[in-house]
Amino acid sequence: MLVDLHTHTYLSDGKDSHEEMVAAAIFRGINEIGFTDHVSIKPVDWAMPIERVNDMVKRVEAVRKSTNSQTIKIKLGAEVDYFVGHEQPIKEIINSLPLDYVIGSVHFLDDWNFDTDISPYDEINIDRFYKQYFKVLQQSAQSGLFDIIGHCDLAKKFRYYPSFSLDELYKKTAQIFKDSNVVVELNTSGRIKPCNEFYPAAAFLQHLARFKVPITLGSDAHVEQNVGQFFDDAITELKALGYKEIVTFTKRNREYLKI
Ligand SMILES: [Zn+2]
Ligand SMILES: [Zn+2]
Repeated sequence: MLVDLHTHTYLSDGKDSHEEMVAAAIFRGINEIGFTDHVSIKPVDWAMPIERVNDMVKRVEAVRKSTNSQTIKIKLGAEVDYFVGHEQPIKEIINSLPLDYVIGSVHFLDDWNFDTDISPYDEINIDRFYKQYFKVLQQSAQSGLFDIIGHCDLAKKFRYYPSFSLDELYKKTAQIFKDSNVVVELNTSGRIKPCNEFYPAAAFLQHLARFKVPITLGSDAHVEQNVGQFFDDAITELKALGYKEIVTFTKRNREYLKI
């Protein structure tokens, strides 16, 4: 079974409609698609304004009704920004929505959106940046707010790398993910970014496998052409590490699907 639990539509920073994304998923043999438009307590131009979040719920419910569930299952998720110290308002918005699952993503360190604003990278201490990123990432898992941790080594996106080996940070973070009972997505979109590899990197995924952290799949598609991108390679990588199942969610309950 194949799931793509990380996709965006025109409601946040994607381009295409829910119907177009569903058609692409069916065409690529995906059994279940989850919509995860951005929800952020900090107003940003790539997330839905909070007052439009209910549109997302209605659109997904409408497309679910108009789609034959034997052909593909449709899940309502959200990609929610994590901010240290703002757990309560994040929790309130999550709990106000009838979500199947929540992806927690770290896109910000303090006020810097390191996912889209490339200008500071040449100015900063990259070693310190990585240490701070992994610390906030670990806190996002420990917060208990999220079912899935999104693109869990996004710090590498623009090919800025630390001077030290990341192995210890990978290992410690994998242990924290296990202890926090979160699922991690194998996010294939990194392959079309400057870093040119999945999130997480193969060496990080090896630690996750050793700690038996459950995995799900997400393309992070913002256009229908990218739905399910590189999933053959992703499944091959997971099987080589001993994974036999991937995870999906219904009403925030975990289910395991054979791969
Ligand atoms: Zn993201
Ligand atoms: Zn995303």
